[in-house]
Amino acid sequence: MRKKKVVLIGGGPACLIAADLLADHCDVIIYEKGKTIGRKFLVAGKGGFNLTNFASGDLLLNHFTDHPILQSALQSFDSVKTRAWLHELGIPTFVGSSGRVFPLPDIKPATVLSSIKSRLKEKGVHIAVNSAFIGFNTSHFPMIKQNTETFDVEADHIIFGLGGASWSKTGSTGDWLSYFEALGIKTLPFEASNCGIHVDLPAHIFAQFAGTPIKNCALSIDEHYAKGEVLLTNYGLEGNLIYPSVPFIRKQLASRKEATVYLDFKPNNTRASLLEKTKNGTLESKHYKSTFRLDAVTINLLKSAMRKEDYLNVILVVEKLKAFPIKVQSLRPIEEAISTVGGISLEELNPDFTLKKHPHLSVIGEMLNWDAPTGGFLLQGCFSTGYFASKQLMNEL
Ligand SMILES: Cc1cc2nc3c(=O)[nH]c(=O)nc-3n(C[C@H](O)[C@H](O)[C@H](O)COP(=O)(O)OP(=O)(O)OC[C@H]3O[C@@H](n4cnc5c(N)ncnc54)[C@H](O)[C@@H]3O)c2cc1C
Repeated sequence: MRKKKVVLIGGGPACLIAADLLADHCDVIIYEKGKTIGRKFLVAGKGGFNLTNFASGDLLLNHFTDHPILQSALQSFDSVKTRAWLHELGIPTFVGSSGRVFPLPDIKPATVLSSIKSRLKEKGVHIAVNSAFIGFNTSHFPMIKQNTETFDVEADHIIFGLGGASWSKTGSTGDWLSYFEALGIKTLPFEASNCGIHVDLPAHIFAQFAGTPIKNCALSIDEHYAKGEVLLTNYGLEGNLIYPSVPFIRKQLASRKEATVYLDFKPNNTRASLLEKTKNGTLESKHYKSTFRLDAVTINLLKSAMRKEDYLNVILVVEKLKAFPIKVQSLRPIEEAISTVGGISLEELNPDFTLKKHPHLSVIGEMLNWDAPTGGFLLQGCFSTGYFASKQLMNEL
């Protein structure tokens, strides 16, 4: 019997794991528009390379957009399976702080990518670079421009993993959005996720404290609350405490045109326990720093936000220490975001990740409209959707 032919378009982690599985039973070709594959994967490796997160079961699912299709992919191929797959490729992993899963310290990101590439080569996967998807022909099959030549893709099935729309130098430009819209597929505009925020703080705070971390604080917005660290930059705030709050900020910005986050500079103290350190609710302002163990940036933020007479009232100061409001003006530009939301609506998918309107096409990875925080969850989402879609396809082909 003729082997089925599956074409994958996009050389990111979502398509790479899909190719690995499909190549056991099908002829597989990957078309990638850049000169090399896995460029965003390598960028991800430049900071802490969180290949997945130790969270499993409901704890894993809770970090992702609550949608049945996405959740079944995550259940089918979770972080335990990602680690087992990496191990099989010769990439042992370890669990670091806050459950982030890294390759062992002596393993470079390029080594992880080349292990995946070697495996695909062994299995006979053909990787065609400089091959850009440029739209669909009248039969709804993709057209590829390879160097100067243009041709229509012929295959039993096509899987797209074209990524989101940030860090365009890695190839994730979102240029494909209009091609899917032309097919009648509902798309959503790209928006930044896991990004910094522009905030309304006085210029002298930015001038004096840009680059200063605010450690051991907590951030809340609506029902979201998390403890950690915030980095003051020359435009606003960044860091691990900011990224998970972005979906809530985005929601407030959309509905009210402005958003407010609250910093708690003393998350391990209640208002009452802070006031117990004073003499019946009185304390000279010169003692705030030592009594409450405050750093220079916190003192300056308090002073900048309070009238002088209020700053002299320790009860009002404690109130501000526990809930310091910061107005968010906007999110940082999409281009520099770690990930994006938007792209193809999940409502367009069958449960097996094929498009309802065009079941010979599947869509996986970040080009779908789902969200997750940093810490290994983004790659896990790509691995889960890539694996699940190809597994379902193998059952059907
Ligand atoms: C700075 C940074 C750090 C990150 N760190 C982490 C981390 O530590 N942990 C984590 O989990 N995630 C991290 N991420 C996110 C993670 O890298 C992405 O979510 C993931 O790479 C998305 O995978 P993908 O396969 O969906 O798409 P991508 O990796 O974006 O790959 C898409 C591919 O499709 C190709 N393509 C696009 N358009 C076309 C076209 N028209 N024709 C042909 N090919 C096309 C692109 O060139 C690209 O190679 C980080 C991201 C950034 C930017």
